Amino acid sequence: MAENLMDKIVSLCKRRGFIFQGSEIYGGLANTWDYGPYGVELKNNLKKAWWKANVQERNDILGMDSAILMHPRVWEASGHVHNFFDLKSDCKNCKKRFKSADLKDKTKCPECSGQLTEARPFNLMFKTYQGPVEETGNEIHLRPETAQGMFVNFLNILDSRHPKLPFGLAQIGKSFRNEITPGNFTFRTREFEQMEIEYFVNPKDANQALTDWIESRFNWYLNLGMKSENLRKRQHGKDELAHYAHACMDVEYNFPFGWAELEGIANRADFDLKQHAQYSGRDLQYFDDLKKEKFYPYIIEPSGGVDRAVLAFLTDAYQEEKVKEDTRAVLKLSKELAPVKAAVLPLLRNRPEIVELAKNISQDLKKSFNAVYDDTGSIGKLYRRQDEVGTLYCVTVDVQTLEDKQVTVRSRDTMLQERISVDRLKEYLINQLT
Ligand code: ATP
Repeated sequence: MAENLMDKIVSLCKRRGFIFQGSEIYGGLANTWDYGPYGVELKNNLKKAWWKANVQERNDILGMDSAILMHPRVWEASGHVHNFFDLKSDCKNCKKRFKSADLKDKTKCPECSGQLTEARPFNLMFKTYQGPVEETGNEIHLRPETAQGMFVNFLNILDSRHPKLPFGLAQIGKSFRNEITPGNFTFRTREFEQMEIEYFVNPKDANQALTDWIESRFNWYLNLGMKSENLRKRQHGKDELAHYAHACMDVEYNFPFGWAELEGIANRADFDLKQHAQYSGRDLQYFDDLKKEKFYPYIIEPSGGVDRAVLAFLTDAYQEEKVKEDTRAVLKLSKELAPVKAAVLPLLRNRPEIVELAKNISQDLKKSFNAVYDDTGSIGKLYRRQDEVGTLYCVTVDVQTLEDKQVTVRSRDTMLQERISVDRLKEYLINQLT
């Protein structure tokens, strides 16, 4: 059943235009995915909700958008050049490559039972060259996390905005990791988007800040409608901690393939600022002008994946409901996340007055929220399609509308239908959506 659910999500994503295989007409580039018209709306809504909760609604967080390409010394200072490795083994028989951590038997190929090579380290950073000459001196990496862009701007932020501790920086952007075993649809890919916060605190306040951020980030998923039984926290054991981290809690989601990480919230202590101070030669300490003391703040980092969150919300929202003889598939996405808030549908496609009125209504609604006009099928089919993409309201224009100036509004969740006057429609929908 669980496996089946994943197949249904992948198929719905393709059929309805959420997520497509990357470069599909060329046979696909393995483990790359393109977001289609509904996918990009969902993804944008998710990022907007994150930005609103973590930047706009807080006084202590500033937004950023740093470059993907960074000075090579950044990755030496951060530890990525020396520590960002996974161990891999190759099968001598079928030549497949495996991540050692995933192997039960480290000597035998799980696919063909062939002999595996000794585990060898494999750096996960994508390498390329800057400029026209492909030589070692021009090597550059695509960033494997957005975090470093915020650490290296710490001084710029202090000098330009003068924030007092505790304060945070937040950004959303693409990251790249040459994963050995990508898979599970968009869960693990080599190009993905992260939403990260670097929260700078006085070291004595770090434990409390970590606890607060764990609660805040966990609740963010619940507030956007994720089912609580599908969300849990998992503390990292000492052996699992990244080289810089003092403590880390993962927020995990119960995916069809099992519980897996959505987001990690770590106490990175003063590792990053100290390293960048040492490698850049700049003073990256914070000066407390009341106490007249200088120190390296600790950093609490909530770091989540946009693509993983989109996949989790899609899976969580998918439902099949018996309606009379039929089964309806519906995406019960929250009103913040649903790609389309209202679809305006003409009951009769061959009546120009109805079509024109429906188009005018949708045009007017579009000014306030994402609304669409759709006349690509019979009304039953259109309802089914809109349910499948999570559209919150369907507005139907019929013959009666031409006389009484009322439309039928059908709610996705209750399937109840109400007649609402065209004049009041927008106000009615805005009330439902806020
Ligand atoms: P994992 O253990 O699953 O490899 P990680 O602990 O290495 O993840 P972090 O370095 O903590 O991940 O990155 C923060 C977040 O970025 C993760 O919680 C996840 O949501 C997202 N992320 C990391 N790697 C990938 C990937 N390859 N594909 C999609 N999202 C990713």
